[in-house]
Amino acid sequence: MKKHDVIIIGGGPGGSTAATVLARAGLDVGVIEREEFPRFHIGESLLPATMPLFKEIGFYDTLNNGNYIPKWGARFIDYRNDDEIYFGFTEGLNRDIPMAFEVERSKFDRDLLDHARKSGATVYQPEMVKDITITDQGASLRTDKDEYSCAYLMDISGRDSLLGLKMKIRQANKSLNNVAVFSHYTDVERAPGRDEGDIIIGLLPQRSWTWMIPFKGNVTSVGVVRSSEFFDGEKDWGAYLDRTLKQSPSVARRMQNAQQAMDVHRIGNYSHTCETFFGDRWILSGDAALFLDPIFSSGVHMSVSSSKMAAEALLQIFPHKGSFKDNGVGQAYEARVRLGAKRFYGLISMFYQGTFVADMKKTLERENMRKGFTSAVAGDVWNEDNFLFSKSVL
Ligand SMILES: Cc1cc2nc3c(=O)[nH]c(=O)nc-3n(C[C@H](O)[C@H](O)[C@H](O)COP(=O)(O)OP(=O)(O)OC[C@H]3O[C@@H](n4cnc5c(N)ncnc54)[C@H](O)[C@@H]3O)c2cc1C
Repeated sequence: MKKHDVIIIGGGPGGSTAATVLARAGLDVGVIEREEFPRFHIGESLLPATMPLFKEIGFYDTLNNGNYIPKWGARFIDYRNDDEIYFGFTEGLNRDIPMAFEVERSKFDRDLLDHARKSGATVYQPEMVKDITITDQGASLRTDKDEYSCAYLMDISGRDSLLGLKMKIRQANKSLNNVAVFSHYTDVERAPGRDEGDIIIGLLPQRSWTWMIPFKGNVTSVGVVRSSEFFDGEKDWGAYLDRTLKQSPSVARRMQNAQQAMDVHRIGNYSHTCETFFGDRWILSGDAALFLDPIFSSGVHMSVSSSKMAAEALLQIFPHKGSFKDNGVGQAYEARVRLGAKRFYGLISMFYQGTFVADMKKTLERENMRKGFTSAVAGDVWNEDNFLFSKSVL
């Protein structure tokens, strides 16, 4: 039986961030990650608002070492008329978050988990958690290789949401019942100069949309998201992707010389939230707690932010071997995560009304609106200086 102060299930961005924070604070942290890295994972476009967090945990220099392409903005293009809007992150409210990066998750997740290791966390990989027992003293776990016990358990296992499923507290979000089909391509046309790393979102008919996320080099991630009610059940996902991408003239033009460079993947029904995010000695963060929708690339930001907050909540109770229920520590954590999610959800709801480009075009003409929305799209969802939040627009 191996023992740690804290065990973290999952070595994705959330798990690695929490492990880094806790190990740097001197706790004995074990991370159990099922997969051998590098491995493919979806979630490739980062947000500017995450960059200060990466600076704080000492990871930013690895991101900024030339292996990842800078992302200075997000462009949304309407299939009906090629009309477009652009959120340039230098125009947001917070001058300290002008850009982010587009990342191949195989490299990014490996680099971030290595950072947790170098920060002092013990990583068990590849090793799969099979069973969890919550006890008064913490938790015990059984994996495919060993047995563990810990005083505190963090479930950061992504959409697998191990504890959420075991406790039957995970609920699907039926209003965001979407299917995503995606792959990697070479030779997708890119914008010149600094705009090369921008994410391009193409609006398509039937509340569908497509993403183009360019990586350093010649590979671009391309995917389509469509409500399952309109998904035609096509079994050949490559053919479905080709056909759907052609619905937008400007996307089709960018794809005309593209060559598929990876198998086509499909993921469905990914939006969910757990009823509660904590118990006495366990806490959920990242996708394991909630996942909204990929349209505004909020996933990694929500995951690393919530995981850092969860780790900080743990540091408050750890010295007296307390409970997350003490002095409202867990409640404050959960409320803060849900507040950020609510604000992203405001943006997401606006997008799925179907006229986002036309509506936003008018809105962005006003400078204060442009600043406020650019900030929100940059992921600065806990910035109380944004009037869009104080006036409950988002
Ligand atoms: C279609 C789609 C597109 C997306 N696009 C974006 C985007 O552009 N930008 C963005 O920021 N986000 C995006 N996301 C969201 C993003 O993928 C996630 O929000 C993000 O990866 C969450 O990080 P995490 O650390 O919480 O979970 P994960 O990254 O999923 O990491 C969880 C880890 O836990 C491990 N694990 C699971 N079960 C076990 C077990 N039993 N034992 C041990 N280990 C286990 C897994 O192997 C995994 O490595 C997208 C999501 C979807 C569905």
